[in-house]
Amino acid sequence: MPTLLIKNAAVLVTMDDHRREIPDGGLFIRDGFIEKIGPTSELPTSADEVLDLSGHLVLPGLVNTHHHFYQTLTRAVPAAQDANLFNWLKTLYPIWARLTPEDIYISTQTALAELALSGCTTASDHLYLFPNGARLDDEISAAREIGMRLQASRGSMSLGESKGGLPPDSVVDTEAKILKDSQRLIENYHDPKPGSFVQIVLAPCSPFSVTGELMKQSALLAREYHVHLHTHLAETEDEQTFCLQKFGYRPVPYMQSVDWVGEDVWFAHAVYVDNEEVKTFARHGCGVAHCPTSNMRLASGIAPVKEYLAAGVKVGLGVDGSASNDGSHLLAEARQAMLLSRLREGITGFSLSNDPSRKLMTARVALELATLGGAAVLGRSDIGSLESGKCADFFAIALNRLDYAGALHDPVSAIVFCQPTRVDYTVVGGRYVVKEGRLVPLDQQKLVEQHNRAAKRLLEHL
Ligand SMILES: [Zn+2]
Repeated sequence: MPTLLIKNAAVLVTMDDHRREIPDGGLFIRDGFIEKIGPTSELPTSADEVLDLSGHLVLPGLVNTHHHFYQTLTRAVPAAQDANLFNWLKTLYPIWARLTPEDIYISTQTALAELALSGCTTASDHLYLFPNGARLDDEISAAREIGMRLQASRGSMSLGESKGGLPPDSVVDTEAKILKDSQRLIENYHDPKPGSFVQIVLAPCSPFSVTGELMKQSALLAREYHVHLHTHLAETEDEQTFCLQKFGYRPVPYMQSVDWVGEDVWFAHAVYVDNEEVKTFARHGCGVAHCPTSNMRLASGIAPVKEYLAAGVKVGLGVDGSASNDGSHLLAEARQAMLLSRLREGITGFSLSNDPSRKLMTARVALELATLGGAAVLGRSDIGSLESGKCADFFAIALNRLDYAGALHDPVSAIVFCQPTRVDYTVVGGRYVVKEGRLVPLDQQKLVEQHNRAAKRLLEHL
């Protein structure tokens, strides 16, 4: 692989232990990894390819910790626009039951294209429906073609309506089939090495769509192969009521009862988590995928992010599925995280004038959640910051644009405070996914047309 020299960045944000922000910074990249980082004057002067990023801000690639790519096909579905989680799901399950392997492939490319254009370089996805022959393999091959890192979560649903679950029986699978396919995927695709492009995660969907037995069996299998575990948890009050009635536990103690706590577990949402349960997460090293836009869109609630951070719980950001966002813009999600955290302070009666030493969530903390936080949640020490030896994953934004006019006193904060924009460059493992604002691996307009045709077909004659 040719060497790549990035030079003259207006500011290069490292997210290293000292949180260095290097003026006139650059990177020297070899074989997909960062060999040297620092001021341009201290780097080699030549390389096989040189990219001058004068006037650009450079940051570590953003890490998305929760998504459902296939939902890009069902954005803004009229019947699901104004529903809460359980009603939203019941409206969409029959539509999702029509998904084909080709739909999984196209929607993966659409979601990853959007993510890449928002600065994301590593994405976790949670696919938990496999109708009509669809497989996680379809998603993995689409991601490989784009060249982004994928934590592919093998989701599952086994608790259909007839057994007291939420989803219709037509979209659930047998537990034996789920576990067999999970094992096949780990053995075929999971790569634990630094710089890995595909890692498999086991991800039963939620307390209201799988049995406790499947949770336990998935945990056993994951630990046998040293892969991570992921599920939706404590997203809504309805789910809390469901867990109390069905299992006799609140969601977090229910997870403890099925051996779902540990460094290898991360939960999406984690909104209805009390102070004792926050300590449980911290004690066991569980991570949280905070999805502020989805939580607002579905009126689910506000996650206690400040408490998580104070207790030392790992927190990353997730755009969540595109049917509850309805976009895949990770930089916008960092902004939402900052704004929602501030709103929560206001709702809970916090006043800056009473305690000037306390601060609202800063733009830099929001960016930290989107980079280092996400990497920690996914259990990856090779991404999340720009340091020598780490993956050459970064994005760059030109600062001389209308969106940031008047905000260049602090360009790092500007990209969070100002209206989120699309990025100019996204590089993953030293390869361009976005260059000069355009997607490199695919024809964007052709993809949009294919995607819209597939989305239209899914809703026809329902
Ligand atoms: Zn989700």
